Amino acid sequence: MSIVLSPSQFIFIQYDKRHCMIIETRTEPHANYKLKVKRSSAGLGLFADEDIPKGARIIEYIGIVRSSSDEDANKYIFNVSSKLDIDGSPRYNTARYANHSCGPNAESDIKKGHVWIVSTKHIAKGEEITYDYGKEYFDVHIKPLGCRCEKCTKRREKKDGLKI
Ligand SMILES: [Zn+2]
Repeated sequence: MSIVLSPSQFIFIQYDKRHCMIIETRTEPHANYKLKVKRSSAGLGLFADEDIPKGARIIEYIGIVRSSSDEDANKYIFNVSSKLDIDGSPRYNTARYANHSCGPNAESDIKKGHVWIVSTKHIAKGEEITYDYGKEYFDVHIKPLGCRCEKCTKRREKKDGLKI
């Protein structure tokens, strides 16, 4: 990415705590469906409050768009490209409540630097919206604690049941 400025222009460059260059702050929530945040098996979760068809853009993952960093990142960092991340930790980013699942009903889709949560199947009103966070995230943040998604919880219960 390059920014060309004429001699009369100037630019303020802002950095966050990790010395990442802040490029843009996206605070405008773009939800295309009625959603609810409530308790789920993995803490708070994002739920459909109306039926969502397959292949629909449900909600945009917003927050602070900044340069990528290898430094200790919070768990809401969404890696957009080799140069860009979105720090989605602000509470106004409703999409951050969509939990990881190993049997998800949505996926993340990156279009022109914007991240959308898109349904991969029909999601009925009341269902939790989940997507696969990816192997890297899974290995660092989920694996050490044990995955609490519905699929893994059921598998564990089945395994425990067999021991009795
Ligand atoms: Zn799982």
